[in-house]
Amino acid sequence: MIVMKFGGTSVGSAEMISRVVKIVKKNAIKKPVVVVSAMGGVTDMLIKAAKEKASGTAQKNAVEKIIGIHEEAIDKLGIGQSIIEDEANGLRSAIDIIKRGDEVNARILDDIMSFGERMSARIVAACMQKEGIDAKAYDAYDIGMLTDSHFGEANVLPKAYGDIGKRIEGEKKMCVITGFIGRDLRGSITTLGRGGSDYTASIIGAAIRALEIQIWTDVDGIMTADPKVVDGARSIREVSYDEASELAMLGAKVLHPKTILPAMEKEIPVRILNTFNPKHAGTMVIKKARRRSRVASITCKKHIDVIDISSASMTDIRGLMRKIFDAFDRQGISVDVISTSEANISVTTDNICNMAALGREIGEEASVHIRKNMARVSIVGKGLANMPNILGTIFSSLDSIPIGMISSSVSGINQSLVVNIDDADRAVKMLHLAFFGS
Ligand code: ASP
Ligand code: MG
Repeated sequence: MIVMKFGGTSVGSAEMISRVVKIVKKNAIKKPVVVVSAMGGVTDMLIKAAKEKASGTAQKNAVEKIIGIHEEAIDKLGIGQSIIEDEANGLRSAIDIIKRGDEVNARILDDIMSFGERMSARIVAACMQKEGIDAKAYDAYDIGMLTDSHFGEANVLPKAYGDIGKRIEGEKKMCVITGFIGRDLRGSITTLGRGGSDYTASIIGAAIRALEIQIWTDVDGIMTADPKVVDGARSIREVSYDEASELAMLGAKVLHPKTILPAMEKEIPVRILNTFNPKHAGTMVIKKARRRSRVASITCKKHIDVIDISSASMTDIRGLMRKIFDAFDRQGISVDVISTSEANISVTTDNICNMAALGREIGEEASVHIRKNMARVSIVGKGLANMPNILGTIFSSLDSIPIGMISSSVSGINQSLVVNIDDADRAVKMLHLAFFGS
């Protein structure tokens, strides 16, 4: 068995859904389990509708527009409107609940977001049936996707793996399963975090010990850099699990950061493929990547903030570190990259919550300074660890760009630097030239 996950763009219109069905049909012999995202843009629209402050009519219109997108696709595919009737009504009443005065809390929002995947899975399954595939749509929670109650970013419970495995193995039809959603122990619908359908695919892959987990998206796999920034960027044939998860965590958008772990634990290859270009080999994520270049990819994240904390008299550095990280924790700041010296600690983050409060918490012993709207450029590759002059290469290729901070991961798999946001694209281009020669 294999898992084939199709993202929002891949199921974004009637034409795309037909294309997806063709791709699945071609792979029928491998016994695919299909996982789908909501149609492209729908999750954003659902969130917006849920948060719509205006009168009931604005909210109603927003919901009808969302349902209309699905009905239009259904019409074009000729599969019968009734296929999503229950979900459409479910969405209408879920939105109604808010109007009665409840605040849109994370639980209600998850419930509302879930309708995107619930509708798309039904449409894709119906389209498959029309094309002669014996398919059945499933809401992930009906086949065992049990999570904790961390609404908006739920974690899958260990029990889920065994349950999902048993359910899918006992199913004769081809399963078309909703990505992104699950259910907690109390029965409330949860979501796994934005872009979480990749994670669903990986959990299911691990649960059924799939031969391969395929993530079908709209690019030719993981690229050496963002092709919109670097003309010479090309797709990478193979990357290792740790390189891929490092890239995902650093902001490369092709994969949800949690995707790799379940696959890695069972050593299942993850293949990233392009629905628009299905013949392309894409990128294979495996335990040991065979590749000539030491660097896998250069990735960039813009609009991050750097928090600099310095103290002239850091006599008890250990105590201060604890205090600083406790303060981050209390303020809900998650730290990405850290660099320290004796009297200084700099960290990058993309979610500063309350700067004034942070300043107050650490303020007395150290001064806190923030550089807003910076960019983090990261060079990722297993081979970096034994590249003696890596820093020399970086500094000489960026000679005219001021570097605001530099940090190497302990494993040597990533070198990250902070630059001004206006220099970011140029930095990526120059580094790409230095490491990939184009
Ligand atoms: N539909 C969800 C989102 O837009 C999950 C996904 O597409 O992976 O975030
Ligand atoms: Mg995605």
